[in-house]
Amino acid sequence: MGVSFDKIDGAILPNFEIRPAANPTPDQERTAKLADLGFGRIFTDHMAVVRYSQAKGWHDARVESRASFTLDPATAVLHYAQEIFEGLKAYRRDDGGVNLFRPDANARRFRSSAERMAMAPLPEPVFIEAIEQIVRIDRAWIPGGDGSLYLRPFMIANEIFLGVKPSAEYIFAVIASPVGSYFKGGPAPVSIWVSETYTRAAVGGTGAVKCGGNYAASLRAQAEAIEHGCDQVVFLDAVERRYVEELGGMNVFFVFEDGSLSTPPLGTILPGITRDSVITLAKETGAVVREEPYTIDQWRADAASGRLKEAFACGTAAVISPIGKVRSASGDFTISGGAAGPVAMGLRKKLVDIQYGRAADAHNWIRKVL
Ligand SMILES: *Cc1c(COP(=O)(O)O)cnc(C)c1O
Repeated sequence: MGVSFDKIDGAILPNFEIRPAANPTPDQERTAKLADLGFGRIFTDHMAVVRYSQAKGWHDARVESRASFTLDPATAVLHYAQEIFEGLKAYRRDDGGVNLFRPDANARRFRSSAERMAMAPLPEPVFIEAIEQIVRIDRAWIPGGDGSLYLRPFMIANEIFLGVKPSAEYIFAVIASPVGSYFKGGPAPVSIWVSETYTRAAVGGTGAVKCGGNYAASLRAQAEAIEHGCDQVVFLDAVERRYVEELGGMNVFFVFEDGSLSTPPLGTILPGITRDSVITLAKETGAVVREEPYTIDQWRADAASGRLKEAFACGTAAVISPIGKVRSASGDFTISGGAAGPVAMGLRKKLVDIQYGRAADAHNWIRKVL
């Protein structure tokens, strides 16, 4: 206990104290739960927790029975939302082993999120070790087939204090949830609502940070999308209200008739690991990929002229989802008749094959946990 990870060398792994759940879910109950998966409602038996205080640094690294936190009503996160999170998955290979996809990229992004939110940065080896510990101890919860174990690392400000300042205490934790596919009905094309009322992020803000606050601010726009019969919302830039940024929780790509792709540039959008992987995979097919601004008017015009062949959204949860229909207060349009396109589906297959260990070249993106 009281192990400080502040001076950790990348090669030294933190020592988690393992306290297996005294009453894990019985096999039969777990099997029943795994047979009826949605997204994010079923949880495994354990969680990893590491605490931080200014005095001790990171300490008390534990894997323990999943349980509620006791939080004082004055705990900082409840008032000023100093909170960040990550999302990644563990995939069961055909040989029974388990893969993580680019967990080092999540660890890096978590660190930069912490820095932007004035939180204590968690050493990357601690982040990865916590995830691996949960995958190992809860391996029976990893679904087979096209399911996966969704891992949710997060950090909250835990100091009991109502003054506005960076917290002096934090809790880092990892929980896990077995999942089927994110969108009901699989990778069928989704419809999206263009929010002309709400924006997601401005230059200098937290658009590139994976923080709960961004999601809280997006929910009204997402509700508006649902009211208009759409699956998801797409945001425009906060200054000119013209440039397409991203969906509530996914990045976006456009595919043109000359075979090239484009995606909005980094800055106010979340730097998706799926986005980055798609850029690499698309370039390998010989396609030109541009990271450049694209306006909603150009999108509408290109869809009408047929210059735009496909549009798709991407993120860890849904992998790649073709966008079939776009609705806005100023009119609707469809992309290639609203059908899933071959580029989106081809990239999806490439990515999924790597994640499940079926690809010959995994690009060094796979970390075998088991
Ligand atoms: C997490 C997230 C994404 C997708 O990132 P991945 O690393 O690909 O999962 C995109 N947009 C937002 C707002 C996100 O929070």
